Formats: sequence, C-alpha cells, structure tokens
Amino acid sequence: MLRPTPAVEVRSDSAGQEVLNQVPPLVDYNLFVSDRTLSESIRREGAEWAIEQLTELGRLMGTEQVQRWGIDANENTPLLETHDRYGLRRDEVIFHPSWHHLMRTSVENRLHSLPWVEKKRGAHVVRAALLMLTAQNEAGHTCPISMTFSSVAALRAEPGLAREWEPRILSPCYDSTFRPAQEKSGVLVGMAMTEKQGGSDVRANITRAEKIGDSNEYLLTGHKWFCSAPMCDAFLVLAQATKGLSCFLLPRWTPSGEKNRFYIQRLKNKLGNRSNASSEVEFAGAWARLLGEEGRGVSTIIEMVNHTRLDCAVAGAALMRQALVQALHHARHRRAFGKLLIEQPLMRNVLADLAVESEAATLLMVRLAVSFDRRATDPKERAFCRIATAIAKYWLSKRAPMHVGEALECLGGNGYVEESGLPRLYREAPLYSIWEGSGNVICLDILRALDREPEVAEALIEELRSANGLDARLDAYVAAVESDICSKLKDSLKGDSGKKESQARRLGERLALALEAVLMVRHASEACAEAFLESRLAGQHGAAFGTLPATADLDQILAASGEPV
Ligand SMILES: Cc1cc2nc3c(=O)[nH]c(=O)nc-3n(C[C@H](O)[C@H](O)[C@H](O)COP(=O)(O)OP(=O)(O)OC[C@H]3O[C@@H](n4cnc5c(N)ncnc54)[C@H](O)[C@@H]3O)c2cc1C
Repeated sequence: MLRPTPAVEVRSDSAGQEVLNQVPPLVDYNLFVSDRTLSESIRREGAEWAIEQLTELGRLMGTEQVQRWGIDANENTPLLETHDRYGLRRDEVIFHPSWHHLMRTSVENRLHSLPWVEKKRGAHVVRAALLMLTAQNEAGHTCPISMTFSSVAALRAEPGLAREWEPRILSPCYDSTFRPAQEKSGVLVGMAMTEKQGGSDVRANITRAEKIGDSNEYLLTGHKWFCSAPMCDAFLVLAQATKGLSCFLLPRWTPSGEKNRFYIQRLKNKLGNRSNASSEVEFAGAWARLLGEEGRGVSTIIEMVNHTRLDCAVAGAALMRQALVQALHHARHRRAFGKLLIEQPLMRNVLADLAVESEAATLLMVRLAVSFDRRATDPKERAFCRIATAIAKYWLSKRAPMHVGEALECLGGNGYVEESGLPRLYREAPLYSIWEGSGNVICLDILRALDREPEVAEALIEELRSANGLDARLDAYVAAVESDICSKLKDSLKGDSGKKESQARRLGERLALALEAVLMVRHASEACAEAFLESRLAGQHGAAFGTLPATADLDQILAASGEPV
C-alpha cells in the first residue's frame, strides 16, 4: 500500500478510514512573491515603487477568504430584475456580496485607473501585474474593471465629456448603487458594439442615432446582442448617425436624473465565468452624447478596444500561471506508482513544458505593457505597441485554453471537479480569444498594421533583432520571419490579398514565437530559454504539451518555476 509523504496531512473520513494521498489545499501563499518572472519584471522595468502594493495584493489573493469570494461569486450567479413588484421597469442586475468584495478590492487597488492617475515609471506594467494577480483568483469581475480602465483612452477624444466623467471613473471608491452617475462616489463603464447581425463587422450595425436639434446629444434606437456588465453606469456604444457609424457615451440615467431608455432583455447563459453578467439590451430612444466625430466611431472606440486587448493578453498569462501553480502543487504532493508525480519523468516533461509556456506568456505581456507605458513619448514604442497588442492578444488567448486543459489533467480526476478551481480557469480561457476581436480578426489586423504603417514593421523588426547574435537558432528564425513579413507585403503589392489573408494566422503565430523567444533569451533562465528555442523554434516539439526534447534540462526548468511561498 502507498504511504503518504510527510507533507500530506493524514485525515479520516466519516467511516474512520484514513484519507490517504490527497493533496493539501493551496492557500495562504503569496501570488506575487512566488512568481519570480513577474517580480523580476517589475524590478527590471523600474517599478520598485509598487512592490509593497503588489506584495500585499499577492498575499490577499492567496488567502482562503479571497479564494472563497471567487468561488461564491461564481456559484451564486447574477440575477436580472427587469421589473419591480408593481410592474415598473427596473433593469437591475443583482450580484452576490462576494462579487462586490472582489470589485471593491480591485477598485481600491486602482486596477481600473492606475496608469491614468499615477505618473511614476512603469504604471502600465504595475497595473498589468496587479491584474495578473487578481485574475488568477477570479477573472469574471475583471471584465468591468478592464472596460472602465480602457474607456478613459477613448473618452479623451472629447475633452468636455472627459472632464465630466473622468473624476467619477478614476475615483478609488466602488459604488454599486443604481443611481445617476452624478450622485455616485465612483462609476463603471462598459462597451456595446456587437449586434445580432454581426460583431466582427461592426459597420453592419443598424442601431440608429438621431441628433437632438443642434446639440451633440442623440437618441439611440436599436439593440446590442452582447453587452457585458450591463450594471455599468455608462457605455460606449456604436450607432449609425447621418454621417455614418459613430461612437456615443450612453449613461444609465439621463443628466436630469431619469432612468435612460436602456432595457436589459435577458442575461446570456454563456461559456466562461459565471460571476459576471453578459446581456442583450435594447435602446428605445436612449439618450446619449456623441464621442469624437460623427462617422468616425470605429477610430474613436478603437482606443478603448486596444486597452482591453492588452488586458486579454494579461488575462491569458494569468490563467496559464495559475494553472501551472495548481499543477505543480498537485504533482509535488500526490503519489502514483511509488513516487510523487513530480518525480515521474513524463510528468516532469509535461510540467516543465507548461512552465516554459507560462514564463514566455508573462514576459510577452510585460513587454506589451512596457510599450503602453512608453508609447506616449517614444514613436518607436508607439509603433511597436500597435503590432505587439495584436500579436500578444492573439497568441496568449490561443495558448491559454490548451495550457489550462493540460494543467487540469495533471490533477487527475480532482482537476475536473469544480472545487479544484481548474474547471473555472478552463471555462474562462477561451473567452479572451472571442472578445475584442476574434482570432481571425486580430490576425487580419496584424496584416493591416504591417501593410499600412511602415513604421510598425520597422519597430517590430528592430525588436526582433534586439537579441541578434545571442543564439543561432533565434537569428535564423528572426531572419525567416522578416522574410515572411516582406513577402506578405509583396503579396499586397501584387494585389493577392486572398493568399495573404489565408496565411495571417501562420504569420501571427510565428511573430508571437519570435517575440517570445527574444524575451526568453534576454530574461529567462538558461534552461528555460534553451527549452523554448529548441522546442518552439527548432521544431523539437509535438502538438501537445509534454513533448520537450530529451535535451531539455527538466530539473533546472522546474527549479526555476519556484514553489508557492
Ligand atoms: C461572453 C461574451 C461577452 C461579450 N461581451 C461583449 C460586450 O460587452 N460588448 C460587445 O460589443 N460585444 C461583446 N461580445 C461579442 C463579441 O465581441 C463578438 O461575439 C465577437 O466580436 C464576434 O462577433 P460575432 O459573434 O458577431 O461573430 P462573427 O463576426 O459572425 O464572426 C464569426 C467567425 O467568423 C470569423 N470572421 C469574421 N470576419 C472574418 C474575416 N473577414 N475573415 C476570416 N474570418 C472572419 C470570426 O473570427 C469568427 O470566428 C461578447 C461575446 C461573448 C462570447
């Protein structure tokens, strides 16, 4: 019979039998301190000023109580109350108290505002790191947090509106009451673009916007087929005005304090987290203010979308990190066939492969956040940010479901049981690929950026060359990717857009791998970088995780992935 290791607590079940070989729950560890890649990144990017806050949030996210909030907020799903008991419209969503605890913690930690209010170096990197810690515990509530944060980038197109709304949005107070924004101590902002007939092609929107007299006020009539977090206090909405598709700020209450004609039809029963509400809404002459110019709706809202794309990349890295932590924890305590799972050679390969992927993901999302920090003052970083946003969003949201799916299996049957938390990560993982531009749409955006903005290709190539001479495999891969970029540009010149488009995912993937490889060579341990290059670049890898070549130094890779502290 197998005997438990000393690390495994021996407990009894109700029949008085010993419970053997079950893993102790992973609680009371610090998600930030335990994550070497993330904490080193913060120091490297000169953001030591935030270490105290990150350490505290990392501790909090690992506590049993906050883990419980995440579970409860997902088990007690939001309820839509369309009408009150007298039959009057309410259009309110009721959440479990745990949801509000999570939201308050994130708002108080300024996950919705930090780079807009903090002028110190690396504010975007710090916020991305805070988000990465939070999303590992509960990702659902980070949707309204992310949209609120991102809305500021678009709101600034209209200084008058920004003056009025920014103080409310940036407030560190979480106020969940359903009242006019002007009476609240803090507000949330959502985004509604997708309609029944199309989400990727928003030009197909049919919601109408009619101008009220000579003002910049409009009445919106139509619907939105997906509107997440409908309890937000205002939404950035696309609708057709006289000059074409335009962007509007639509509050839940009008400035005169009446409820706006914004009706929540129903909540979606969806894949993904259960804690957040996603809905279908109708506007029956809803009052809204124009944001940006009439007819320039997409270019106005894209500033918001770019910031939510950054957050999709952060969330992808967060899910992979948490899946890895859980898999390692399980393997360090569970025994099979006379050994701890982490001592089984094939399991070591799986875990090391997951660790390499997670480290590359974290480095890529940090590099992206750095470019958000630098882009205001450095045109090269602005150009790099343009393309890196699409590349990282595409790749990290594609890798997360596969990564989490493999980590889940490391826990055996326990991984498939809700209490383990892995099913929640698994349901969440595919969301980031459909939000804010689905896989194909993002890859086509990569092509568009390379085609239309020569400075983007230059900035990308310069970044890829930044590790030139450090490894022959990397040099060869970067040279091949550069030639891919050039041949895609030639296809455009020849007008062969069909062929070029059909290859867009291939290009997106190769660009992502090249960027990750550069970052791994510069910042990861030698063993992790070597395994990444040999597997992902030199082709010594299979289609599933756990296929690192025999040359990979599994001991070193697993040692570098650290233990929860
Ligand atoms: C849980 C959830 C929450 C959401 N929340 C919101 C929200 O808050 N606000 C909001 O506005 N939207 C929201 N969405 C909607 C989401 O943004 C859209 O579903 C997404 O943009 C895709 O649009 P669609 O569903 O109409 O699919 P379609 O546009 O019909 O696309 C279907 C498929 O075709 C592909 N495709 C489209 N065009 C091309 C092309 N030219 N070439 C190749 N392939 C193409 C797409 O990649 C996709 O795989 C949410 C969606 C989900 C699932």
